[in-house]
Amino acid sequence: MSKHVVIIGNGIAGVTAARFIRKLSDYRITMISAETDHFYARTALMYIYMGHLRYEDTKPYADGFWQQNGIDLVRGYVTTIDTEARAVHVGGGRAIGYDVLVIATGSQSNKFGWPGQDLDAVQGLYGIPDLATMERWTAGIDRAVVIGGGLIGIEMAEMLHTRHIPVTFLVREQGYMDYLLPPEESAMINAEIRDHHIDLRLATELKEIRPDDQGRARAVVTNTGEEIPCQFVGLTVGVHPNIDVVKPSNVETNRGVLVNEFFETSVPGVYAIGDCAEFRRDGIGIRRIEQLWYTGRHHGKTVAQTICGRRAAYDRGVFFNSAKFFTVEYQTYGDIKPKPEDGTETIFWQDEAAKKLVRINYAADDGRVLGFNLLGIRFRQDVCERWILERRSTDYVLKHLRQANFDPEFYHSFKITDFENRTRP
Ligand SMILES: Cc1cc2nc3c(=O)[nH]c(=O)nc-3n(C[C@H](O)[C@H](O)[C@H](O)COP(=O)(O)OP(=O)(O)OC[C@H]3O[C@@H](n4cnc5c(N)ncnc54)[C@H](O)[C@@H]3O)c2cc1C
Repeated sequence: MSKHVVIIGNGIAGVTAARFIRKLSDYRITMISAETDHFYARTALMYIYMGHLRYEDTKPYADGFWQQNGIDLVRGYVTTIDTEARAVHVGGGRAIGYDVLVIATGSQSNKFGWPGQDLDAVQGLYGIPDLATMERWTAGIDRAVVIGGGLIGIEMAEMLHTRHIPVTFLVREQGYMDYLLPPEESAMINAEIRDHHIDLRLATELKEIRPDDQGRARAVVTNTGEEIPCQFVGLTVGVHPNIDVVKPSNVETNRGVLVNEFFETSVPGVYAIGDCAEFRRDGIGIRRIEQLWYTGRHHGKTVAQTICGRRAAYDRGVFFNSAKFFTVEYQTYGDIKPKPEDGTETIFWQDEAAKKLVRINYAADDGRVLGFNLLGIRFRQDVCERWILERRSTDYVLKHLRQANFDPEFYHSFKITDFENRTRP
């Protein structure tokens, strides 16, 4: 009889695993998830609130896709994983047996024990239920405060801004995302945030959130003692692996579910992928816990091969990420650190209006390209990745930069000779 694979979580990691197991086998597949009936693009949450997309538009597959591909969907919360009996319990009752279990339970928003963090109108942004509460708490308000200078914080600031809600944005660091971005990139995004009339407060931390007499947030107090009146607080201070259901089981966990490069956990036949997985050692992924859309997809595709008898170790490939900070698009490929490292040199170009930026890092010894940072300009991912993998020299890259260009408008405003003349070290 064919194996039964049960997957907990229908996010990008879980659905990719399901799709590739289906391509490679006739195994019975059941996907159990609590949040929504069908897979949707979590990265598009902001556009639903902003009115650019309806929830329906964020579903990459038609609802009939799953049935057509023999993937059973169960809507429910898994309360117990019983690895002895090889079964999971849904909603505290119904048991579903498995031969192979894939844990793909994603992340949860962080809270760090601040006074007032559980008041009404204080929330993070992770899933569909958060959009509903955000709708409710932001209706007709005078000011919102968003706390936490990461990708979700800036998205929330933009979401509120599009509804004409004045936003104060508290960022603990000296510059937006300066823990990941070099100073020039961070400065460009600081300016972009302020250009959108967001009251950006750098080097400012939350101390407490004060309630009104109904138990709703009425003000935020910062570490400088300032009280900022507001009726909504976005608490976007990162995420952590959502492993509530795994902790009481005998699957070994640390911050996430511990896995090797094959996504195998401490229990045979049980795998973990996506945001909830933690590599046992450095050097397998970008970090021990990878909380990105594309890495989740890559985990799902890789684990499917192992489950289907084509044992495959995770190969993270060249790091890349992309985001949009208000109007500025950001792409990064390869290895770009916030501070220059020994043995690394930089070629840097920025336009006069400080709206476009290109940074190319390369090895000082042989000139091979190590990474790209791009703001306001898009380069082709396949080309940048290939150049890094092929250890192409900066001379080669500058000569062939046109191959990477994605944006037809770019070459109207940008002359490659300017770039070379200005930036040659
Ligand atoms: C607002 C926002 C914007 C983002 N933007 C980007 C971006 O631009 N680029 C990028 O690379 N990444 C982005 N991310 C991160 C990216 O979305 C995540 O890394 C990715 O979605 C994680 O996928 P996953 O499959 O591991 O988990 P998830 O997508 O979290 O899916 C896990 C699912 O499992 C369900 N679940 C959990 N526990 C149980 C249980 N016990 N029983 C049943 N179901 C359960 C959860 O409800 C959830 O639906 C963003 C995240 C957010 C929140």
